[in-house]
Amino acid sequence: MGCLLKFNNVVKIYGSDSVALDNVSLEINEGEFVSVIGPSGSGKTTFLRSINKLIPITKGEIYLDGENISDKKGRALRMCRRKIGMVFQNYNLVYRLSVIQNVLHGRLGYMTGLKGILGRYSEKDKKTAVDILGELGLQDLIYNRASDLSGGQKQRVGIARSIMQNPQLLLCDEPIASLDPSSSKVIMDMLYSMIKKRNIACIVNLHQVDVAKKYSTRIIGLSKGKIVFDGKPEELTDNMIEKIYGTSLDNLMLGGNEDA
Ligand code: ADP
Ligand code: MG
Repeated sequence: MGCLLKFNNVVKIYGSDSVALDNVSLEINEGEFVSVIGPSGSGKTTFLRSINKLIPITKGEIYLDGENISDKKGRALRMCRRKIGMVFQNYNLVYRLSVIQNVLHGRLGYMTGLKGILGRYSEKDKKTAVDILGELGLQDLIYNRASDLSGGQKQRVGIARSIMQNPQLLLCDEPIASLDPSSSKVIMDMLYSMIKKRNIACIVNLHQVDVAKKYSTRIIGLSKGKIVFDGKPEELTDNMIEKIYGTSLDNLMLGGNEDA
């Protein structure tokens, strides 16, 4: 499998001295399912958002599909971003619009400005949106307003929108942090099956270690902006978890260390 994403000594410093990514180097291959774990403030969001340049890095290079995204601007940057879908903790839907309109927004990166502004989606795009919504069990809610959905349903729309974009890489920042355990399981199962079917690589920030272990082929542990673990789920020992979180496992089980 080819290398899809490469970090070369990436440093991110906020302000003059807040180091969020401390010399991060790694490669992620096509189709990999990678979970990123680590305590609050360890750099997970910064890592994820630097990939599509939502956050500009301070030093180093980030290559996507062989292209250095760090120095791209304008149209070239938009072309790179098209390959990267995003799923957010708080869904980021347009709540006054319908479910299908939100999903069609995934196509905006492929449309000329005016067509996008006027919402002139092709019949093919509309059919694809309906099909994806069907796969996610939302076929009966296509014309409902996004504001009327439950949290789990909103996140399914978020996933549908990202898949509609036809990405090579999907970035998910705490996609289940606002959901109850049963909706979380539904969302992770759906996310997993959608990306496996399409061979999309996925990077998911999670604070639930058990979820990371269950779904991913690879886990990256961040602590204070450094990669302190990079391996298979079965290699992630209790000792290593304590090292990543800087606290005992007992504390972790009590949920004592995290923001939800
Ligand atoms: P995580 O997602 O793991 O909680 P973040 O990437 O949000 O971690 O944050 C990493 C570090 O960078 C933290 O110390 C945080 O306080 C700092 N940080 C994040 N965003 C900003 C910002 N916009 N300005 C200044 N510091 C920031
Ligand atoms: Mg975060």
